[in-house]
Amino acid sequence: MDEAACREALERLRWPEGPVCPHCGAAGYVISKVGGKSHRPGLYLCSECRGQFTATVGTPLEGSKLPLGKWIHTAHLLNSHKLVSVREVESALGVTYKTAWHTVQKLLRGVQDYRGPLPKFGKTVQDYIEPRLPKTRNTLTYWKCQQARKRAGTYKAPRVPVASGTLSLLRFTPPATQAHVERTERFLIWILRDPERSNEH
Ligand SMILES: [Zn+2]
Repeated sequence: MDEAACREALERLRWPEGPVCPHCGAAGYVISKVGGKSHRPGLYLCSECRGQFTATVGTPLEGSKLPLGKWIHTAHLLNSHKLVSVREVESALGVTYKTAWHTVQKLLRGVQDYRGPLPKFGKTVQDYIEPRLPKTRNTLTYWKCQQARKRAGTYKAPRVPVASGTLSLLRFTPPATQAHVERTERFLIWILRDPERSNEH
């Protein structure tokens, strides 16, 4: 996958209304793109706080040497309908087992409170994530509880990110279904907008 296109997609997922400074929260005309070959690609400057940032600052992708395309690819694999093991991520990405392991772990740490459609995980990864998920999820009891809450008017809909089709502009190999790409997109939105979420509480 083309790295520039991947960066653009991640920027759009994180900031649908244009870049926002992760240091001071400023947006709009005070944010400018830093060009030139001597700078990191995707670098922005905030004239409000003089801070610099990229779309990955404050996310699990921050400071990673792994190409953004491989991050997206990993998220995509984790959102397959079948179980995915770290070994499979390793061979699909063409990286070492250690890199694959860390990439998966970092992404999963970001989904601890994810309430969207959940990715399926291979055994090792499942061991990590499972204790953190509500056990009653997707059971009949859970559904009945939900119905009761709806009737009582105390039901709160899960805050699930909405996919806007940004990732469908990228070319996945092998070609993926639209539903799969949308799952990946919602998952990535959740991961990338984490700093924003923590401000809400
Ligand atoms: Zn700033």
